[in-house]
Amino acid sequence: MDTVTQFEHWIGGHPVPPASGRHLDSTSPHDGELVFRIADGSAEDVEQAVIAAHRAQQAWGRTTTAERSRVLTSIAAGIRKDIDRLVELECAEGGKLSAPARMELLVAADYFDYYGAIVRTLAGDTIDQGPQNLAYTRHEPYGVVAVITPWNGPLNQGCRGIAPALAAGNTVVLKPSEFTSATSLALGRITTEAGLPDGVLNVVTGLGPTVGVPLVSHPLVRRVSFTGSVATGRAIGRIAAERVIPVVLELGGKSPILVFADADLDAAARAAAMSVLINSGQVCSATTRLLVERSVQDELVRRIGAILNDKRPGEDFGPIVTPAQFDKVLGMLATARQEGADAAVGGHKCEDGVPERGLYIQPTVLTDVKPDMQVAREEIFGPVLVAMPFDTEDEAVTLANATEYGLAGAVWCGDTARGMALAHRIEAGQVAVNGGVMGVETPFGGYKTSGIGREKGIEALYEYTQLKTVSVTLPDHGTERAA
Ligand code: NAD
Repeated sequence: MDTVTQFEHWIGGHPVPPASGRHLDSTSPHDGELVFRIADGSAEDVEQAVIAAHRAQQAWGRTTTAERSRVLTSIAAGIRKDIDRLVELECAEGGKLSAPARMELLVAADYFDYYGAIVRTLAGDTIDQGPQNLAYTRHEPYGVVAVITPWNGPLNQGCRGIAPALAAGNTVVLKPSEFTSATSLALGRITTEAGLPDGVLNVVTGLGPTVGVPLVSHPLVRRVSFTGSVATGRAIGRIAAERVIPVVLELGGKSPILVFADADLDAAARAAAMSVLINSGQVCSATTRLLVERSVQDELVRRIGAILNDKRPGEDFGPIVTPAQFDKVLGMLATARQEGADAAVGGHKCEDGVPERGLYIQPTVLTDVKPDMQVAREEIFGPVLVAMPFDTEDEAVTLANATEYGLAGAVWCGDTARGMALAHRIEAGQVAVNGGVMGVETPFGGYKTSGIGREKGIEALYEYTQLKTVSVTLPDHGTERAA
């Protein structure tokens, strides 16, 4: 008997089968086994979800911030209550390791707590227009917001957009990646059980062209939050430009980690190693361009190698999410070798200790890399650190900024003030100096082709509101004449 779980869309507070009657297979990158079937959505399903969201928005948009805050807080509690099941789903489909998946999902819950709390501080201004006139501003919702997410952090990235959007009084249609949809659908049920009115959050699964395009194009969708590749971001941006609707685009990266000779080399080595171990480097903000002061390059690479060589597939690092992405990373490694790079650590797919169809690649450090090589320029989205030496601070900054991307950066050096000065010179939306912590309170987003707009922090709440100015002429009570 077929025991594979089948997921339907979540529309209007209920599971809804796809109009097409078809489902897509979702397989595990750990061993290639079929794990779930998810609804194969179409424009008809999008229509149903957007209408449900539009109807629900009339009432949701009129609730007080205190009412919305209470529901958001109870969604956070619902995610935490179901955390074991959510971890299981996300690991099965996306090949994540359980401990980092749990951390990501706890952050997903935190988004609801955070925006549930800060929405109560959302306030407009009053603007003096003379004694008899008053102007004030209101932060109003857009209406229906489309949230489109990639496969590498499905629920976390979904909640990053959904929580501020709902807090601000919008309703949402979420379209998760076709490769990792299960936790987004589970979220639909959690939010309904937490008291979110039917239709305020809807989830439609399926492919980009058949669900994503009709969603962004739908006349009732008034704002888009997209996380994913630059190519798709551009395609969505074109539709949004035609429709004149705003978009938040959270796109790819090729982020540098700068290590100076006076840095704590062990700490820098651990940070560099983590950037390829966490989610096997499939993290948009992973700092995988290792720019290192020439005098310590060999020693740093040796220390990183000592950390990475010990790591076991399936226990310390996970697989690459899809066969296509797996082939792309191996192809980029082959090209790098042809172009003269050397794999000082790793460099191949894992042969031992992994299932036959497991998509595992060894954590890798490439040396002898030149700035014009493909691996130095293009996002790899795999467990590959690309090391390049520098001799001066200016050269380090030039190398760091020699990319079309500008998502993140890291600086490791012995002098904190110098680290901060360097952070100011790096063209990226967030830069960490000697470690740093960036919680849900800190704005996140890209410079250059890494994106437009900001998620996280109070800035994201403003992203999901539009500002209205109201001006009033007050009744004349004779105050002016008396004065
Ligand atoms: P992708 O662009 O292929 O897909 C992302 C989502 O867009 C999926 O849900 C997909 O079905 C949908 N989609 C595809 N074509 C579409 C279209 N024409 N119209 C509307 N929707 C469409 O990205 P991916 O491969 O899933 O994710 C990896 C990429 O995401 C990497 O480049 C990574 O850096 C980036 N990313 C960025 C962030 C960030 O916060 N900046 C976070 C995670 C991932």
